[in-house]
Amino acid sequence: NGHASTTTTSSIPNGHPTKDTLNGNFDRHQIVDEEKKFTQDLNAQIKEWGLLDAGFNYNLVAVFGSQSTGKSTLLNRLFGTNFDVMQNNKRQQTTKGIWMCRGHDMNVMVMDVEGTDGRERGEDQDFERKSALFSLASSEVMIVNLWEHQVGLYQGANMGLLKTVFEVNLGLFGKKAQDGTSGRTLILFVVRDYAGETPFDNLTTSLKDDLDRIWESLVKPAELKDVKLGDYFDLDFTHLPHKIHQPERFEQEVQVLRSRFVDRSREDFLFKPLYHKRIPADGVSFYMSNIWEQVQSNKDLDLPTQQELLAQFRCDEIAAVALSEFNEQAKSQKRPVEAGNVVPGLGGLMHNWRQGALERYNQDASRYNQAVYKRKQAELLNTIDATLSPLFLGQLKNLHKQRLGAFKKALQDGLKGEEYNYADVVKKARSDCIETFSEAAQEACIEGPHWSWQEELELLEEEIKGVADQFRKDETKKMVSLIERTFKKAISEPVEVALTKASTKMWDIVLRTFKERLQKAEASYLNKAISFNCTEEENTHSIAALRKRTWLALREKINEQTGETAILGKLRAHFEERFRYDEQGTPRVWQPEDDIDGAFKKARDETMDLIPRYAKIETQDPDLSFELPSDEDSPLSEEAFDFEESLIVLSETKSLEITNKFKKESDAYFVEAKRSTVVGIAQ
Ligand code: GDP
Ligand code: MG
Repeated sequence: NGHASTTTTSSIPNGHPTKDTLNGNFDRHQIVDEEKKFTQDLNAQIKEWGLLDAGFNYNLVAVFGSQSTGKSTLLNRLFGTNFDVMQNNKRQQTTKGIWMCRGHDMNVMVMDVEGTDGRERGEDQDFERKSALFSLASSEVMIVNLWEHQVGLYQGANMGLLKTVFEVNLGLFGKKAQDGTSGRTLILFVVRDYAGETPFDNLTTSLKDDLDRIWESLVKPAELKDVKLGDYFDLDFTHLPHKIHQPERFEQEVQVLRSRFVDRSREDFLFKPLYHKRIPADGVSFYMSNIWEQVQSNKDLDLPTQQELLAQFRCDEIAAVALSEFNEQAKSQKRPVEAGNVVPGLGGLMHNWRQGALERYNQDASRYNQAVYKRKQAELLNTIDATLSPLFLGQLKNLHKQRLGAFKKALQDGLKGEEYNYADVVKKARSDCIETFSEAAQEACIEGPHWSWQEELELLEEEIKGVADQFRKDETKKMVSLIERTFKKAISEPVEVALTKASTKMWDIVLRTFKERLQKAEASYLNKAISFNCTEEENTHSIAALRKRTWLALREKINEQTGETAILGKLRAHFEERFRYDEQGTPRVWQPEDDIDGAFKKARDETMDLIPRYAKIETQDPDLSFELPSDEDSPLSEEAFDFEESLIVLSETKSLEITNKFKKESDAYFVEAKRSTVVGIAQ
C-alpha cells in the first residue's frame, strides 16, 4: 500500500536508510567515541537540533540488544534517525561508541549503542555494562531488542545484559529517591522476526519468568533485599514481523509502534511523564558527560549528587548570563551617577534591571534542583544588589547636594527686597527641600534589598539648619547695619543744632535724642528678630552690639562737630554775637566813650566758658545717664573701647590750644573795634 511504499522506496535493497522525508533531517552525533571519551559538542548539537530551550519538553530513549539484531534499523524506522546499519556483506563497518540523534517530528533524543558483542566474542563486556548504566541514568524508555528465537534462552546474551542492567539499577536507584522523580524506567521488549506460530502471551510469560529469575538471582544489598522488580521498572512487550520477508507489514507495525511514542492521547502511550528523569534539555549535555565520567572511572553513581552538581553548574551558567545582561544595563547609569548627576527615575530603572535578570534566571534555572536553584538565586540577587547599592548611595548623595543647592537658592530669592518674613521663607524652603528629597529618595529605593535613606535625610536636615543659621546671621547683620544707618540719619540734625547753640542743656538734649533714637532702634531690631527666630542669647548680643555702634555713631557725629575748625567757628560766632551786636541784635558802632574794654572782656569770658562745656559729655539728669560696658570682647569692636574715655570730647591740651587760638582771634576783633573809633574821630 501507499504508506508502506513512501517509506520504503528510498531504502536501498539491503535496508540501509538514506535521506528521505523521514530520515536525515537531523545530524546524528557520536557522544562517546571508540576511546570512550565523551563529546565536547553535545550542547551545541542539542542546540542545532532545536531542543536546547525545550526544558522538560523532550524525551529520551535508548536501545539494548545483541549485535546485528536490527537495533539501528528499528530506531531509524521508528524515529526517523540515521544511525549506521550493518551491511550484510561487510561485518563490523559501523563505528563503535554511543550515538545520539534527534527524532523526526518529535522532541526525542534517541541513543544507539554500537559495539562488538562482548559476550559472544569474549571481549569488552565492560563497554556494554558502562553504556547500560549510562543509558539508565537518563532514558525514560529502554528498548530491549531480541529475536524471537532468543526468548527463553536464559543464558542468552540479552538476559546476561539484563542482569547487568538490573544490578546497575539497584546501585543507581537504591539510593534515595531523586528530587521530584519516580526513578521508574520502562523496559520495552521488542521481539523481532516474530513468526506468529507461538502465541505472543506465551513469549511474554516466558520473558517475565526469566526476568523474575534474574531478579531473584541478584545479590542485593541487605537494605534492598525485599524490593521487587516492579518497584523500579514497568515492563511492556511487543513484536515485529520479519523485515525482509514481510517488508510492508513490518513498516505498518513500525508505524503503529511509532505512534505509541508520539500520540499522547493513546492509552498505551509509552513516554509517560513518570519516566522522565527531569533533566532540563539545556542540562542534558553536562549531566550526561558527568554521568559518563563517573561510569568511566567506576565510581559509584549517585544520581541525587549528580543532579545537584548539574543544578549547581547550570544555575551558575544561567545566573552568569542573566548577570552579564544586568551589568550591561547597570553600567549605563554608573557614569552619570559618579559624575554627580541625579538620574531621573533611577529606582524604576534599577527595579527593571533587577527584575529582568531575576526573570531570565528563573525561567531556565527553576527547572533544576530547587534547593540549588534558590540558593543560587539568592547569590545572584546579592551580587545584583551589591552593584546597585553604590548607584543608590550615589543618587542619594547627588540628590542631597542638589536639594541643598536648591534650598540656598530659595533662601536667596526669598530674602530679596525688604518685604519678607524670614521665618516663613525658611520654613517653606526647608519643607520644599525635605519633601522633594524624600520623594526622589523613595523613588530610588527598590523592593528587595533593605535600603534606607533616613541617614542621608538626617544629614541633609542638619546641613539645612547650618545654612539657615548662616543666612540668619547674615540677615541679622544686615538688619543691624540698616538700623544703624537710620539712627545716624535721625540724630544728625538735632545734635548739630544742640552743639551749635551750646546751651547749658546742650548735652541733655544730645543724650535725650540719643536715648530716644536708641530705643527706637532696639524696638525695630526686636521686631525683626521675632521673624528671624533669634535666640535670647543672640538678641542680648545683638542689642549690646547695637548700643555700642549707635554710641560710636553719636561720638563720630560729635567729633565732626567739635573738630578744631568747627569749634573755633562756633566760638567765633558766639563771641561775635555778644561783642559786635547789642542786646537787640543791632550791630554796634563803637563811640569813643563806649566801654570797649569791658564789653570785650565780658563777651570773651562768656565765650571761653563754652570750651569746658564742650570738653566733656555730662548730665545732671539721672534719667539721661547712659553707660556702656567698657572694652568687652565684641566681634564688632576693632579697637579697645573705654566708655569713660569716650565721654571726653576735648582733652585738656586740646582745650588749651583752642583757648589760645580763640584768644588770638578775639584780640583781632578788639583791635578792629578800637580802630573803628579812631577812624570815627578822624572823620
Ligand atoms: P544492529 O547491529 O543491531 O544495529 O543491527 P543493524 O540495524 O545494523 O542490522 C543488522 C542487519 O540486520 C542488517 O543487515 C539489516 O539489514 C538486518 N535487519 C534489519 N532489520 C531486520 C529484521 O527485522 N529482520 C532481519 N532478519 N534482519 C534485519
Ligand atoms: Mg547498530
